[in-house]
Parts: sequence; C-alpha cells; structure tokens
Amino acid sequence: MKKFCPKCGAEGKPMHKGFCIDCYLADHPDIVEIQDMEIEECPNCLRAHLGKNWTSSELEPFIASKVKTKLSEPTITASIVGETEKGPVMLIKVAGRLGENEAELSKEIQITLRKRQCDVCSKKQSTYHNAKMQLRGPEEAVTDAFRAVRNENRSTSRKERMAEVFRFEEVKDGVDVYLGSAQAAKNAAAKLVNKGAKVKTTYKLVGLDRKTGKRRYEITYSVRMQ
Ligand SMILES: [Zn+2]
Ligand SMILES: [Zn+2]
Repeated sequence: MKKFCPKCGAEGKPMHKGFCIDCYLADHPDIVEIQDMEIEECPNCLRAHLGKNWTSSELEPFIASKVKTKLSEPTITASIVGETEKGPVMLIKVAGRLGENEAELSKEIQITLRKRQCDVCSKKQSTYHNAKMQLRGPEEAVTDAFRAVRNENRSTSRKERMAEVFRFEEVKDGVDVYLGSAQAAKNAAAKLVNKGAKVKTTYKLVGLDRKTGKRRYEITYSVRMQ
C-alpha cells in the first residue's frame, strides 16, 4: 500500500512524521519564523536604522538575517515584491532540508517604515559641530581652500559621515566651515598648510561628553590663506 497523508489524502508525496510534507509545513508555522517589522528611515538621507547602525545598505540581506528556521542547511532570500502606503512588502523564501526531504517555504511580510531623523542628520540640523575652520584671505584663495576642505572630506565621509561638512557660513572676510569630526578638520588643516596657509589652533571647552564623561572640546582652526 502506498503511503497516504491522513490529513489531505495525497498519495505518493514525500512524508514527514506521518504527514505529507505540505501538510506538515502548513501545520508547523514555526519552521520559518519572521514577522512584520518596523524599520526606521531617516527622511533626510534615506538611511535605514538596521540593527545598531544607520546605513544605506540594502534591506534584503538584513531581513534575511532576521529569519529563524528549523530547516537544516537553509538558504534564505528576501526580496521586495510590492509596496503599500506603510512600506515595502517582502517575500521571504527559505529552502532547506526537513528530515529526509527537501522543503521550501515562503512568507510575505509587511515592512512599516517609520520616519526618524538619524543621529548625523539631526546633528547637522542643530548647531552641533566638533571643529570649526575659519578660512580667511584673498577671495580666490578662500574659495580654493573651501573646495580643498570639501574634497578632503568627501573621501573620508564615505566611511565616516561625521567627517562631512555640517554647515558653512559666509562671513565678511571669508567662510566659516563647521565639521562633525575633529580628525577630519585636522586632516584638512594639514592639507592647507601644505598649500602655504598659516594655521592657528584653539581649543574651547564646551562641556562633558554624556557618553564617555570626558571633556569635550571644540577645536577652531584659524586658517590664513596667502
Ligand atoms: Zn497532506
Ligand atoms: Zn539621515
């Protein structure tokens, strides 16, 4: 006698623990566990808050990494298959082994995107900065210096967004540039020294860092271009 599934009556299908594999999977939703999720997205830079980081990396591998499965040797993929007013709809596919059999399951989940400004964007929109560069001198030299600061920072800020130019302000005799990273400002100042600028550095105590308890200084580079 051929084995048949006591639930759906199918004959000749792969069986697992007395049921056909499809019925078994249908009755055991915990074999693939993933639920609708909320993801924060920054309305300014469109980075997503995935795990602990604000990142512009893809959503798919992150969602795939959140899937729990009881299948062995699983291959998990996630892809965006639709979009509602809440956010993307994702299809999760899990293929693997269940006992003797190959099994494949899919689930759809709704991702709800919540708007929240990321740390760097909110700092950029406040008056926050770690370093200030006052570029002074003949107009053309100041323009060149400003361009050099931006270019210097562009390469660093790809890895470290705090290195970005947060704000700048044209003043009577030059331009003030505000940066999130003291190190980036230091590097840029060193570049300008190579171009013949005179640089004076001043430190101002602005308070205590809430996280580390260390004193926080704001560094000002007064750059005089020739
Ligand atoms: Zn069945
Ligand atoms: Zn942002």
